[in-house]
Amino acid sequence: MLNKNRDFQTFLGCDKNYNEADVVIFGAGYDATTSNKPGSRFAPSLMRLESYGLETYSPALDKDLEEDAKIYDAGDLELYGRAETVLDAIEVTTAQILADGKTPFMIGGEHLVTLGGVRAALKKHPNLHIVHLDAHTDLRDDYMGEPLSHATVIKRCLDLVGNDRVYQHGIRSGTKEEFALASNLRKTLPPKDVPVYLTLDLDVLDPSAFCGTGTPEAGGLTYLELMAKLKEAMELNIVALDMVELAPNYDQSGVSTATACKVLREMLLML
Ligand code: MN
Ligand code: MN
Repeated sequence: MLNKNRDFQTFLGCDKNYNEADVVIFGAGYDATTSNKPGSRFAPSLMRLESYGLETYSPALDKDLEEDAKIYDAGDLELYGRAETVLDAIEVTTAQILADGKTPFMIGGEHLVTLGGVRAALKKHPNLHIVHLDAHTDLRDDYMGEPLSHATVIKRCLDLVGNDRVYQHGIRSGTKEEFALASNLRKTLPPKDVPVYLTLDLDVLDPSAFCGTGTPEAGGLTYLELMAKLKEAMELNIVALDMVELAPNYDQSGVSTATACKVLREMLLML
């Protein structure tokens, strides 16, 4: 009799069925509006493969993906074409997971995918707040005339929720105008009783820890600094979340993909 083989099409330990799952992860490997180097479309599938280098147990949290979490990996959305078409598909999927009483966790892809998730979460939770970890403000009103871009995504979210409901951390790049706008955003994490969408652009990490991304920006967080911030943020009322901008092929060592997997495991165990 054959032993059960590893399933590289499922992220490590995320093998519960949909009905019993509390959290549903899905890939949104879209990178068509990337302004510098593309490649984040490969992140979800390569993360699944790399995840088997990890243990399901987190010593930092004393929790195990197999025993302490109920997670379903829904695979990747098939995304192609105009940004609005792609965002609609993401919104429909996110809305379905929310309607089923589960927490959607999207794996990008470029940062624009967040807008689809936020649109769905906002429809269910009109008082939605956004926690945004990133090297970049992503607050341009347009990028070369294009209003839908990974460089404008937080501005599009801001248009929906207002300045007092967006909190940013780790920012170290943007235009003078973006920084002026950012100075009007929330200065503290939202209160614990409001619904929160958490979006993690992995380039918030320093390139020395994470170089596998299209727009690396020096002066970033260490892995442990990111973990400390996430621990704080994950205590909030998180209703949906995402992780974006890993572009695995810019780091031939694989360290960036392995790091993204570990961050994902810890976030799943913090939920
Ligand atoms: Mn971003
Ligand atoms: Mn960024």
